[in-house]
Amino acid sequence: FSTANSNFIRNIIIEDRENHPGKEVHTRFPPEPNGYLHIGHAKSICLNFGLAKEFNGLCNLRFDDTNPSKEETEYVDSIKEDVKWLGFDWEDRVYYASDYFEKLYEFALKLIKKGKAFVCDLSAEETRAYRGTLTHPGKNSPFRDRTVEENLALFEEMKEGKYPNGAKVLRAKIDMASPNLNLRDPILYRIMHEEHHRTGDKWCIYPMYDFAHPLSDALENISYSICTMEFEDHRPLYDWLIKELIESKQKPRQYEFARLNLTNTVMSKRVLRQLVETGTVDSWDDPRMPTISGLRRRGYTPEAIRDFCERIGVARANSLVDISMLEHCLREDLNTKAPRVMAVLNPVKVVITNYPEDRVEYLEAENNPEDSQAGTRIVPFAREIYIEREDFMENPPGKFFRLAPDREVRLKHAYIIKCTGLVKGDSGEILEIHCTYDPESKSGGLTSGRKVKGTLHWVSCAHAKDAEIRLYDYLLKGEDLEASTGEDEAKDNDFLSQINPQSKVVLAGCKVEPSITDAKPGMTFQFLRQGYFCADNKDHQADQLVFNRTLGLRDSWAK
Ligand code: ATP
Ligand code: MG
Ligand code: MG
Repeated sequence: FSTANSNFIRNIIIEDRENHPGKEVHTRFPPEPNGYLHIGHAKSICLNFGLAKEFNGLCNLRFDDTNPSKEETEYVDSIKEDVKWLGFDWEDRVYYASDYFEKLYEFALKLIKKGKAFVCDLSAEETRAYRGTLTHPGKNSPFRDRTVEENLALFEEMKEGKYPNGAKVLRAKIDMASPNLNLRDPILYRIMHEEHHRTGDKWCIYPMYDFAHPLSDALENISYSICTMEFEDHRPLYDWLIKELIESKQKPRQYEFARLNLTNTVMSKRVLRQLVETGTVDSWDDPRMPTISGLRRRGYTPEAIRDFCERIGVARANSLVDISMLEHCLREDLNTKAPRVMAVLNPVKVVITNYPEDRVEYLEAENNPEDSQAGTRIVPFAREIYIEREDFMENPPGKFFRLAPDREVRLKHAYIIKCTGLVKGDSGEILEIHCTYDPESKSGGLTSGRKVKGTLHWVSCAHAKDAEIRLYDYLLKGEDLEASTGEDEAKDNDFLSQINPQSKVVLAGCKVEPSITDAKPGMTFQFLRQGYFCADNKDHQADQLVFNRTLGLRDSWAK
C-alpha cells in the first residue's frame, strides 16, 4: 500500500522521451471558473503539476472561460488560492482562454477560407434532428454549401452583433455520416449577448470548448493535454482541428484518465452550487463540502491530499474510491504533526475532596509522543476539574474501565482518582462527582507505577476556556452512490435526497485546556481520546474559540 500506485500517463511520458529525446513535458490545468475546486480537481492538479515537476517541465494554469453566463471573478480568485495552497506554482504562466478570443476568431476565419467551416441558420432543435443518431447517419444542413465569401460575411455580421442569440452558429464541415457524433459538423461558435467577466461586452460570439481547447493548447505549446474520460470521443475533433489549423512540429495531444469518485461524496459543481444556494450547507467552504476550501477549513493538509492523489494512481477505468482512504492519508499526516491537548466536549464537574482548595499544580505534558521535537507544555491541575460526562457511569457494566462509584482511573499527566460520592440535582441528574486522589500516583513521579485500567482526559475548571465545537459527519448517507459525471441531472438530483440531517452538530460550552487559547485559525490539534480538531479559519477568535472536528481517531481504512 505504501508504494505509489501506477500512473499510465507517467509511463507514456517515459516511453515518449525514450523515443524522442528532449521532448518536453508541458501540461496545463484548465478549470472553468464557474465554481470552487473540489477534491476531484485536486487529482487533476496533482497529475498535471506533478508530472511537469517530475520531468522538469512546465504546467500552466489556464482559466477555461469561454462561457460568459456562468463564470465569475470570485471563482478565479478562489481557484488560484486553492492551487497555491495545494503546493503548486504556475509562476508567470496564468492564462485565460478569453485572452485568445482574437486569435481564435482568426483561426475560425482560416477554417472558413479553407472551406472547412460554414455559418448555419438551423435552430437548435433542427440541428439535433439533422444530426442523426448512433445508428443513423445525419443529414447535411441546407446551409452547408454556402460560399466562402458568404460565410465570411455572415460570420463577420455575427461578430458585429447583427443577430440575436441562437439565430446562427459557425459549424465545422466534417462528415454528417461519421460514426462519431462529435464529427457531424460540430458547432464551433455560438451567439451569446452576454457580459464576460474579463472581456465585458467586446464579444457576442463565443467559441465552444471543443474549438477553444485544442487551439489554446497549441498556442501555449502544451505537449500533454490531460483531461477526463468523457472527452475521449471528442479527441478525433481535437485532432482534426490541430491538423487543419496548426503547422508547428510539436503538436499537442490529448490523453484521458478516469475521474475521481469518492464514496459519500458528490463532486459535480452543479450539485455543489445547489447545496450552497439552497442553504443545505453554509457556504462553498463549509467543512462538509468536498471543495478544496471546505477540506482546508475542515483541517485537511495539502500534504495529505497530495499523498492521497499519488496513492490512488491514474487509470482509464472508472472506479469509486473509499473515502476512508482519504481519511487514512490525513490521519497519517496529522498523527506526526498535531499537538496533543485536552478538551472536554460534554463536561461534568469532579471535585477532588482531599486536594487543597487553593493549590494549583503546573504539570508538564508531552505535546506529541510521535514527535520527539515537539516538546512539552504546562497544564494546570486543581481541586475542581471537568471530565466527559460519558466517562462516568453510576451503574456500570463489568467491562466499563472509566470512572464509577468506588472505582479508580488515572487522569492523564496527573494522578489516580477514586470516586467517593455524587451530588445530584432535583431530577436526579449528576451535578458533581466527588473523588479523592492518591498523592503518590503522580504521572512521571517515582511512585507513579501503580496501574489502573482507564485513563481520562480532563481540564481544570478554573483554568479551562469555553469553546464551541462543531462535529461534522458525511454530508451524504449512502456510501455506494454511483459515480456522477456532473452531466446527468437526474442522478445529481438523487444526491440531494440523500442528505444526512446529522452532518453538523454544534456543541456549546465545551472546555479546552488553556494552552490552546492562542491557537491561530486553521491550526490542528489532537484532542486526546476524541480525534483531530482545527481552529475554524473563519469564526475562531481569541475571545471566541471555535473548533471543527476534522476526523475521529479510529481508522477504518482496510489496507
Ligand atoms: P464538474 O463536472 O465537477 O463541474 P468540470 O470537469 O466541469 O467538473 P472543470 O473546471 O472543467 O470542471 O475541470 C478542470 C479540470 O479538472 C478538467 O481537466 C477536469 O477534467 C478535471 N476534473 C474535474 N473533475 C474531476 C474529477 N472528479 N477527477 C479528476 N479530474 C477532474
Ligand atoms: Mg469542464
Ligand atoms: Mg462541469
